[in-house]
Amino acid sequence: MSVFQHMSFDNHERVVFCSDPESGLKAIIAVHSTALGPAAGGCRMWSYASDDEAIKDVLRLSRGMSYKNAMAGLPMGGGKAVIIGDSRKDKSEALFQALGDLVESQGGEYITAEDVGINVSDMEVVATRTQFVSGLPHESGSAGGDPSPKTARGIFHGIKAAVAHKLGRNDLEGLTVAVQGVGNVGYYLCKDLHGAGAKLIVADINAESVKRAVDEFAAVAVASDEILSQKADVLAPCALGGILDENTIPKLNVSIIAGGANNQLATDEDGDTLNEMGILYAPDYVINAGGIINVAYEYLNLGDENEVMAKLEEIGGRLTEIFQAAESQGLCTNRVADAMARQRIGRAD
Ligand code: NAD
Repeated sequence: MSVFQHMSFDNHERVVFCSDPESGLKAIIAVHSTALGPAAGGCRMWSYASDDEAIKDVLRLSRGMSYKNAMAGLPMGGGKAVIIGDSRKDKSEALFQALGDLVESQGGEYITAEDVGINVSDMEVVATRTQFVSGLPHESGSAGGDPSPKTARGIFHGIKAAVAHKLGRNDLEGLTVAVQGVGNVGYYLCKDLHGAGAKLIVADINAESVKRAVDEFAAVAVASDEILSQKADVLAPCALGGILDENTIPKLNVSIIAGGANNQLATDEDGDTLNEMGILYAPDYVINAGGIINVAYEYLNLGDENEVMAKLEEIGGRLTEIFQAAESQGLCTNRVADAMARQRIGRAD
């Protein structure tokens, strides 16, 4: 399929295909926009079923990064890379050296970091070949390192803003939050919510992760196929994308959806349906920006960890602005956020 005709192509500035038989690297870098600065976004390693699936993923994810960085007020554009391969079998030093060479050859237009399937030690190999890399080990007190606790803290501020807007409350004491997925982000989010007095319902396909949340935060565990229909004040999706669709939305029993997973809505129209049902949706790329804020502070030397923590609090205010605009315009929050993001990157339609 032609990239220019692809339904997920949005006038991306650059799409680079790399095939390096020596190392086995098959990768695509997509730079959606550099209007606000170098395009930043992680590199994902996934066994895509087809090249088209990989192209679609990198185009959608890089546009999402443009929106995320713009809405977080960062001087960065949006980009993403994907490696076509199985992260459990196909990793090697040569592969990540080749990725480093590929990133370096973009001359700083694209800055890479970890995403699904890639860890800090992989990025350390990439860093031996390019300066345009982030998400590296950091010293205590400085910005950088594992982004998950920062992503979770941003979501926590976002949940508080959503609760204040929808339920008129300034605390979370006694409220119930259903968390789908208690991996890296979900775990730290549960920790913050538990500390604020919220009651937790959790589900994960990994039994050990569930046990940890039950033991440490007195969470109630439910089966993975039951979490989306739980009666709760807030649903926090922290597992996969595409979980809110025509099948799951009618079963929801919450007032607010506010969680960390990327691309939670299967389609924009699903946001309209949530709005019609009176469910407040916190746009995912706004509420889950804590990790990229951490990356930006590390890479651009914008400040230390305390300054990152202060910046994360702004996520609550940004969401309140979106909630209020959506209400006054009679639109769903995802459409309002998309329009704001496109305005910021000079792509207002
Ligand atoms: P993770 O892999 O550590 O955690 C995801 C968890 O979801 C795992 O424990 C997994 O077992 C569980 N899971 C998978 N399918 C499930 C299902 N059907 N039902 C219940 N649980 C299921 O990943 P993470 O880093 O915590 O990221 C979670 C989500 O947040 C992802 O969508 C990711 O793209 C997004 N995100 C993460 C960050 C970050 O800083 N890590 C930043 C922004 C967005």
